[in-house]
Amino acid sequence: MYINGKNETLNPPHIDKILEKAKNTHELSKEEIIELLNAQAEPILRLADEIRKKYVGDEIHLRGLIEFSNICKQNCLYCGIRRGNDKIERFRLDVDEIIKIGQKAVEFGYKTLVLQSGEDGFYTQDKMCEIISELKKLDVALTISSGEKTLEEFQAYKKAGADRYLIRIETTDENLYEKNHPTQILKTRFEALKNLKLAGFEVGSGCLVGLPEQTISSLADDILFFKKNDFDMIGIGPFIPSENTPLKDTPAGSFDLALKVMAVVRILMPNTNIPATTAMETLRKNGRLIALQSGANVVMPNVGDYRKKYILYPGKPDEDGLSGRTSFEEKLGSIGRTISNDYGFRKK
Ligand code: SAH
Repeated sequence: MYINGKNETLNPPHIDKILEKAKNTHELSKEEIIELLNAQAEPILRLADEIRKKYVGDEIHLRGLIEFSNICKQNCLYCGIRRGNDKIERFRLDVDEIIKIGQKAVEFGYKTLVLQSGEDGFYTQDKMCEIISELKKLDVALTISSGEKTLEEFQAYKKAGADRYLIRIETTDENLYEKNHPTQILKTRFEALKNLKLAGFEVGSGCLVGLPEQTISSLADDILFFKKNDFDMIGIGPFIPSENTPLKDTPAGSFDLALKVMAVVRILMPNTNIPATTAMETLRKNGRLIALQSGANVVMPNVGDYRKKYILYPGKPDEDGLSGRTSFEEKLGSIGRTISNDYGFRKK
């Protein structure tokens, strides 16, 4: 069912043993994770689905994504909104526009809003705090995903009412990280994640799968990093080449490998929140539904007006998380899942 209709071959018995251990203890060594990432996917995805059902249930949390600026001072090699891309039209929304989108999303039933952007200096601490406190009046849980900030800024956002913050580590491999992020260093990214915990956020992280020269061993390190830090949300997405970026001719990451990485994360972190990422849907039709049957329990539909300009990578499904919500609910119903009515905090 999961792998492209390919004929399944049985995994050797030692893989079953690793899965049995993982099921009972939710702990694996790096070597065992590598074995799983190299093994047939199907039993791993099945176990992840079973654990998802047991620990976080059949409810799916919908988070309404508002992309509010594609202006960015960073220059990540893979990203379509990197500062070096002078071919895209840039936009930034003002406070009123963001609030309007938030109000609409709430009317359509969203209980969480996610504010995402490039690292855009226009949004000073005061401006962000104003946006946060205005959106919080809508009675929603609020997530921010706007890159690296100082501890003081994180604390101010928290005080203004933000609940969660997402910073993917992208990769824990220092060499690979610094090659792909010429304006950033890995240590600062680690520190930002630590500071978010200090500031009291629910913290999300995650990684890209399929960066050039990335190895299975380095993905196993990423998984162990998530587990060790016990993050509240983990987003795993395949790399997708984006026009006008240095990686435009690099082949996309593997959907199947990204799915397996995500499933292993679920097996090791039974009660964390895991989104079925848009990048998965981009690489494979119904990729998100497949992810939801392989460990994921969250979806982040786009509710903003600017999705056509916020192009991290091409081929994102052009969906409206508002008008499309009902048909999406039906799709989820067809795989036996319902949409949660609560704020969707992690249930430990
Ligand atoms: N500026 C914020 C938000 C980044 S965009 C931050 O630094 O956290 C959100 C995520 O999109 C990134 O963390 C990255 O993992 C993903 N992304 C960017 N370009 C991508 C690409 N070409 N393919 C797949 N995912 C990509």
